[in-house]
Amino acid sequence: MPVVPAPATPDSAEAVALAERFDAVMMPTYGPLPLLPARASGVDVEDTQGRHYLDLAGGIAVNALGHCHPALVAALTKQAGKLWHLSNVFANEPELELAEQLTRRTFADRVFFANSGAEANEAALKLARRYAYDHFGAHKHEIVALERAFHGRTLFTVAVGGTPAYAEGFGPAPEGIHHIAPNDISALEAVVGPNTAAVFIEPIVAEGGIIMLDRSYVQRARELCDEHDALLVFDEVQTGVGRTGTFYAYEGLGVTPDILSTAKALGGGFPIGAALATERVAASFVRGTHGSTFGGNPLACAVANALVNEVTKPELLANVVERGAQLSAGLEKIGRDTGIFSEVRGQGLLLGGVMAPDHAGGAKQLQLTAVEHGVLTLVAGTEVLRITPALNITEDEAAVGLERIAGAAAHLASSDRGSSS
Ligand SMILES: *Cc1c(COP(=O)(O)O)cnc(C)c1O
Repeated sequence: MPVVPAPATPDSAEAVALAERFDAVMMPTYGPLPLLPARASGVDVEDTQGRHYLDLAGGIAVNALGHCHPALVAALTKQAGKLWHLSNVFANEPELELAEQLTRRTFADRVFFANSGAEANEAALKLARRYAYDHFGAHKHEIVALERAFHGRTLFTVAVGGTPAYAEGFGPAPEGIHHIAPNDISALEAVVGPNTAAVFIEPIVAEGGIIMLDRSYVQRARELCDEHDALLVFDEVQTGVGRTGTFYAYEGLGVTPDILSTAKALGGGFPIGAALATERVAASFVRGTHGSTFGGNPLACAVANALVNEVTKPELLANVVERGAQLSAGLEKIGRDTGIFSEVRGQGLLLGGVMAPDHAGGAKQLQLTAVEHGVLTLVAGTEVLRITPALNITEDEAAVGLERIAGAAAHLASSDRGSSS
C-alpha cells in the first residue's frame, strides 16, 4: 500500500540551522517544528530534504480537503486570472455566492466577511455589543466566556479568551468580561443577567484541551440568553465546516446560536473568516459600523465556494464520522497498549489523546517523537496530543497515521520508563 512514502528522521544539525535562520529574522512568537515543508498533496507533506510525512495536523483544522485539492486549485487559479481584489467599495460575484451558500445552509440570514478567526470573532463581539446597545442601552455590554477558551489574538479576543497568559502585559483590556468553568451550570446561572450582552462559547473547547460541552449545558445557555435578552454566540472557527460531522457543530447540539463565527477550514488553506447572524441581530451593523479592506475578497471567496461545495456532500460528512470513529478507537488502543493516554476526547475529526499521569506534560514530546516517526500532529496545551486531519482522509491513510503514532508512543513510553528507573 504505497499510499504514503516511508517516514524519515530530520537530521539534528539541519534542525539547528533552521532554528538559527528563523530566529535571526522572525519575531520570537513561534517555535516551529524541525522540518521545512516544501510541497504537499492530500495528507502527504514533503520537506526540503525530500522526506515525507503523513499529515494529521491539517494546518490546524484548516486543510479540510487536504493539501492542493484539485477543486480548490482550479477555483483559485481560475479566479486568479479574472479578478483579485476590489475592496468593499464594490460587491463581487464570489462573495455574493458564498454569502448565499452560507445563509442557505445555516440558521443565519446575513454574513460579514473577514480574513481570519480572530477577525470573525472581533466582528461577532462588536456586533453583540452593538445589538445590545441599540436595543437595551450601554449598560448591557457584559460578555460571558469560558475558562480555557480560545478566540484569537486580537486584544478583544484574548480578553474574551480563557487563557490569562495570552492577555498578560497587553492591558488595559476591554472591560465587562466574565469567565466561568465549562459545563458548570450553576456558574452560568449565577453570571448571566440583565447586563449580559452575549454568552460566547466554542461548542468544543478545542485549543483548551478538546473539552466537550454537555448538551444540557449548551441548552441552558440558550435558555438563559433568551430569558435575559442576551445573544448566544458560537465560535465555530475550529468546529465548523464539517469538522465534527455536520456542516457546523451547532446542528449536532440541537442548539441554534444568534451569531456564529467561522474561519480556519472555510478557505481550505486560503485565509478567510466570517461572522454569521440572524437578520434581527445583523441589522445593528448599519453602514459604517464595521468594515474590512480584504474581507470578502474574490480569491478567498472563490476558493471557499469550491470548498463548501465539497464539504457539504453527504459522503464527505459520512467519512468524517467513520474516520473519526476509526481514529478515536485507534488512539484509545494506543493508550491501552502503551499507557501513554488516559482518555481520548473529541468528535469527528477533532480528537485529542489526553496524556496519562505518568506522562504528564508530555504532549509536546510525543508530538516531536511523532515527527521522527513520519506523522504530523498538534498539541492542545501541555496534556493533549491533538489531531485535526483532512476531512477526506482515507481509511488506509488513517491506519498509517495511527501506526506511526503508535510507534512514537511506544518509543516515548519505553524511554520514559528508562529515565524514571
Ligand atoms: C484558531 C481559532 C481562532 C483564531 O483564528 P485565527 O485565524 O488564528 O485568528 C479563534 N477561535 C477558535 C475556536 C480557534 O480555534
